[in-house]
Amino acid sequence: MPDNEFQQRRARLLECFPTLQLDSFLVTHLPNVHYLTGFTGSNAMLLAAPGRDILFTDPRYTIQAAQETTCHVVTVRGPMLPKVVAAIARHKLQMLGLEAAYLPHLTHQFLREKLPLRHEFKLIAGQIEQHRMVKSASELARIERAVATNSKALDAVLKRIRPGLREMDLAAEIDYRSRREGASGPSFETIVASGVRAALPHARPTANPIEPNQLLLIDMGATREGYTSDMTRTLGIGKPSTFWKQTYRAVLESQLAAIEAIRPGVKASEPDRAARQVLEQHGLEKTFTHSTGHGLGLEIHEAPRLGRKEKTKLLEGMVVTVEPGVYLEGKGGIRIEDTVLVTRTGCRILTPTPKEWMVL
Ligand code: ZN
Ligand code: ZN
Repeated sequence: MPDNEFQQRRARLLECFPTLQLDSFLVTHLPNVHYLTGFTGSNAMLLAAPGRDILFTDPRYTIQAAQETTCHVVTVRGPMLPKVVAAIARHKLQMLGLEAAYLPHLTHQFLREKLPLRHEFKLIAGQIEQHRMVKSASELARIERAVATNSKALDAVLKRIRPGLREMDLAAEIDYRSRREGASGPSFETIVASGVRAALPHARPTANPIEPNQLLLIDMGATREGYTSDMTRTLGIGKPSTFWKQTYRAVLESQLAAIEAIRPGVKASEPDRAARQVLEQHGLEKTFTHSTGHGLGLEIHEAPRLGRKEKTKLLEGMVVTVEPGVYLEGKGGIRIEDTVLVTRTGCRILTPTPKEWMVL
């Protein structure tokens, strides 16, 4: 990531201060700290204020913070908040923004007690997240590498999939291959669900064996250079019934319709509506129980969400998943998920893995 990109991001946040009526912002959500500073450690807060961005962290990260960020770094032994309060007082900051969605009650309480009475707080929701929705060229390059890594990992395990292999062993194999392909780790807990368990949209891999003549659902993501990826494929094992083949076709049609609906300017509810419409034609709409997709980037779930009531307009540079599914209790389930980039004229599917009906 070019160094000045982080500076530009902080400058962009500062530009919002007059509108938000702030003179400073305490960023406590780590992915937002990472986004604004480049620092990737596990303990940090950023106090953003004109001319004085201060990154607070602890002594484990002294060397790393100096390497990763151009912010002024304060290394704190013990509790961090008293030092933050001292800095706020020293710089006479008076209107502090706090991250509404990520503010622990105790932090809020501490700031209320320790800062002078004239000090104002403002709870801000989603400001940085909104900036994060549109990806820069360097972020996009990282996401594309994460997506490629994820697909290579699936390629590498396909030949090992057979009835009798335990779901958890396949999940472990996927995580291992993913790391061998360059991932720093999975973007979320890998889902491997065979047979009736594929009806659970977020199934945990179990010690159950992969069943013959059933479906196998795999949902996996590789994190690389801080950025996530996300893909679901559903495969037939042995001789699945023609019902599954037909249902798969309906889900694929639904997924393609949603992708077709993605372009700049449309509401994030549009692709969701397109996906549901197709499933409705097949009498399957009631079995699709989650939203059609989500943004991804530094986090696996980011704005915008592709859901029924979303009003956010899609913009060039947003990266979203498209993942309609059908879930039939006691039978099984199908989901097909790709990662898609909103382009100037429409969209581009980033996931290279084929998604035609496949039987192993
Ligand atoms: Zn997924
Ligand atoms: Zn997803």
